[in-house]
Amino acid sequence: MLAREDVAEGSERQSAGLAATAAVSLVALTKRFGDQVAISGISLDIADGEFFSLLGPSGSGKTTTLRLIAGFERPTSGSVRLQGKDVTKIPPFERDVNTVFQDYALFPHMTVGDNVGYSLRVRRVPRRDRAARVAETLETMRLGGFEKRKPSELSGGQRQRVALARALINRPRVLLLDEPLGALDTKLREEMQGELKDVQRGAGITFIFVTHDQHEALALSDRIAVFGAGRIEQVGTPSEIYERPATPFVAGFVGASNLVDDDLAARIIGERRRFMIRPEKIRMVGVAEPVANGECTVVGTVRDIVYLGAQTVYVVAVSPDRTLSVVTQNVNATATDARAQKGREVRLVWQRDQTMALGPGSPGTQWEAGT
Ligand code: ATP
Repeated sequence: MLAREDVAEGSERQSAGLAATAAVSLVALTKRFGDQVAISGISLDIADGEFFSLLGPSGSGKTTTLRLIAGFERPTSGSVRLQGKDVTKIPPFERDVNTVFQDYALFPHMTVGDNVGYSLRVRRVPRRDRAARVAETLETMRLGGFEKRKPSELSGGQRQRVALARALINRPRVLLLDEPLGALDTKLREEMQGELKDVQRGAGITFIFVTHDQHEALALSDRIAVFGAGRIEQVGTPSEIYERPATPFVAGFVGASNLVDDDLAARIIGERRRFMIRPEKIRMVGVAEPVANGECTVVGTVRDIVYLGAQTVYVVAVSPDRTLSVVTQNVNATATDARAQKGREVRLVWQRDQTMALGPGSPGTQWEAGT
């Protein structure tokens, strides 16, 4: 299994043209369904052992990309390579990948053991070897003792683990996961996230993980590709995606963001340039509080308060038609303290280098740090 640093080093080697072969390469991949363009010109290299997420809103082309890698769909143009080999015309069962679907797709009439061992039986692995591999895989997935149960006798989290065990038993080099935690409640989902990451680290398998949940993608991934309307908006590590979003779309989709432009931008930064500032980077202080060099500031009135337990979101009107959201940790503050802020005049302050501005010379899509 590659550590994060190794993956980063691998990427550097690749961009230097010294490439360790990518586990999965997509080359100018386009898929149309009739008039509908599902994805358009997607190119991507995913390193061996990487936990790689495809993140984006509904309909942005994530599942289509995954199905093209698995071989369930043929591209309209472009190619798919696995370990450097062009597999575009090769059927799914001859590709060294396995898929875990959101609905698990377990055989309801078979026991857990038979579900997990099914692909070995199809490949005529002898019964004794099969039993040993099934037992070992069930143990890895903390499913020891569940072998004789039917899927209907399991919880959602257990069924999900059976689906994972069934995919892992073939020891594929690449595992494709399509919103595998989508059907679970929040608590179980968080638990399973940890387990997924452990399994991936332990087995050293390349995971390609489809999700529309930004928290899940940020928490689990070595790298993320953010999809918007059939195209990749940005590929990067979680911190690159969050701290340095390449486009307004990424800034808006991953994490909350305040967009400021026109007169308000001119008032705050002295230029009519659109910029973005994250709600958690803003301090809310008394109006009379002094502002240091290198800080941006604007005065406003607290219009709304959303108390979230650990945090509070303050919505502050800074002009007749604009509000900025500010997130603060409730270190000492209670809900009553938070609500008492409503209607108050406040000063918002943040470090100038936390703003992301639309860069000059680029046609309105690239952000640059500091304004
Ligand atoms: P979700 O998060 O909702 O699953 P997604 O990002 O995975 O969305 P895709 O399922 O890849 O998106 O769909 C991308 C686009 O292609 C959508 O507009 C969808 O309606 C269209 N599409 C996908 N499959 C087909 C199909 N078999 N026939 C026609 N259009 C399709």
